[in-house]
Formats: sequence, structure tokens, C-alpha cells
Amino acid sequence: MLYGPYDIRFVERPDPAIIEPTDAIIRMSATCVCGSDLWPYRGLEPITEPIPMGHEYVGVVEEVGSEVRTITPGQFVVGSFFASDNTCPICRAGYQSRCVRAFPIGAEGAQAPLLRVPLADGTLVATPDSPPKDLLPSLLAASDVLGTGWFAADAAEVGPGKIVAVVGDGAVGLLAVLASKQMGAERIIAMSRHEARQNLALEFGATDIVTERGDAGVAKIKELTDGLGVHSTIEAVGTQPSMMQAIRSTRPGGHVGYVGVPHGVQLPGEELFFAEVHLMGGPAPVRRFLPELIDLIWNGKINPGKVFDLELPLDQVAEGYRAMDERRAIKALLWP
Ligand SMILES: [Zn+2]
Repeated sequence: MLYGPYDIRFVERPDPAIIEPTDAIIRMSATCVCGSDLWPYRGLEPITEPIPMGHEYVGVVEEVGSEVRTITPGQFVVGSFFASDNTCPICRAGYQSRCVRAFPIGAEGAQAPLLRVPLADGTLVATPDSPPKDLLPSLLAASDVLGTGWFAADAAEVGPGKIVAVVGDGAVGLLAVLASKQMGAERIIAMSRHEARQNLALEFGATDIVTERGDAGVAKIKELTDGLGVHSTIEAVGTQPSMMQAIRSTRPGGHVGYVGVPHGVQLPGEELFFAEVHLMGGPAPVRRFLPELIDLIWNGKINPGKVFDLELPLDQVAEGYRAMDERRAIKALLWP
């Protein structure tokens, strides 16, 4: 639970119970701390009372409500940070994070041993079997960071022959590099000045590293692309400088996929008008990609779990936040 700025506590709460007949209760196999959890942690999203935290989860179904049809107790499942019915017109179009019945899992708090998941049939995807423990980090990554990086690359229309730039070297940015590689990008430019993150980006498929930021970063991207800018830019930070860096790095007609949760971002209309780039972003509809991502992980094609460079027992969750806040860790996995 978050009690105030920089004050995360591991405390006892009542066990969650079925509230709606479409709910499921999951016993968590692994959970983690998200870069977006750092915004309220740092006091940038003020709170008025202690709140549960966490929205990334994999685990075993313990109990289901009377109207749950396809999800059954004992299944190992992966879900995303918005519950969705997966049947409404918005879901059917592939935007499950904006489902007409969307429910934020963060409100329940996934950094816990048990979790209530609303709209279980629409939200949860079962794996083919009970996974070995070494697959848990990658399956957990699919729940948010991989799904979000994947959506960003999809939104930026990454594909064969494309030159891609990734702004942001957090877990989402790094997995957007992995996604771009899987989608067949010709060149992938990762923007990072942190050696461990640069190395992981290279391992995930980056072909170039740019350490400059802001205007200097844009100039470097232009230099690498015959003055044109890239076809596809992924923005995975959410600040004014990172968003403008993404737009200015993209060539006219190109695409920006933005998934960093914006804080204080204001787009200048005139510059946007003449930039002539496509902008697509938002909370990732991870549910759209989950079946494909689980399949790639299950068959050993991708190993996104490598973004977890710190593992802690759940009761040491406060250290996970500290390590990520101080950028000592890329992403902290928590074992319940
Ligand atoms: Zn829906």
C-alpha cells in the first residue's frame, strides 16, 4: 500500500472475495513494480488515503463467480492492467483498455498474494499448461511492459524496412526494442545513456545507440537517417521533452506510438501541424496481444523476462520501489 510520497508499506489486508458473478480470484505466482507506479510514489499523483498498488499479475485461478464460463479454477492465467469484457464494440476493434466496462486492476492492487479480477472471461488468458518457474518472469512481463512495448511498436507501424527510434530506456522502451525486432524493423535506434540498459537494448535487437537527448538527440537521429528522421518512433517516458523529441525525430508521414503516461505534456498546434506525423497512443490494449505474446514466450521465441534485474520477496516491496526510483534497477519482480 502507498501511504504517501516515498512511503510504501507491506501490510495485512482482508482477502479479496467474489463481488460480481463475472469475477475471478487469483493466487499470485509473481507480480512486480511498474514505472508508472513511480508517479504516485514520488507524490506526482497525490493521494488522500492509503491506496493498494500494482497492476501486473500472473497466477492460478482459485475461485470464479457463477457467470464465469471459460476460466476455471486451477488454470494458470495472465491478465492485463484493465479488466475488459472483450465483447463490446471497442474491445472487438482491439482497444480493450478502453472497453465500455473497463476496470483498472490497480484499484484492487496486484502487489498482493491474492487478486480479484473483474470480467474474468474477457480479461484473463490461460496458458497451455502450468508453466515452469523460469517462464514466470516473461509471462509476467506480458501482463504490462511487454504488451505495452508491443502496442507502442504496433501503433508506430513498425515493420519490415522501417527505421525505428525508441525514446526511453525503461522496461517498456527496452521491450519496444524487442517488439520492433520481432516485427522485422530494419534498424532500431535505442536512446539511452545507461550502459546496462544499452546492453540489454542491443541484446533485444537494437542496431544503434544514441546517448544524446533533446535537440541534440533529434540532431543525431537526423544524422543517422540522411536528414529525414525515422519512420517510426516509440515514446515510452511521458514528459514534454520526451514527447517533443519523439515527434521531432519522426519524418513527415511517419508514425509515433506513445505509451509513456503523460505528465504535463502540451502539444504545440503549429509545430504539430507542420510535423505531419501520425500520433497513436494511450494505455495499451494488452489483451489484444496476449494470446500471441504467450505463444511466443511459451515456445521460447522471446525472453522479455530479462528486464527484471531485481527479485524480492513481496514483503520487501518498498526496496523494489526505492531501487527503481533511484534507477538502480530497471524493474523489480516480487515473489508473493
Ligand atoms: Zn469491451
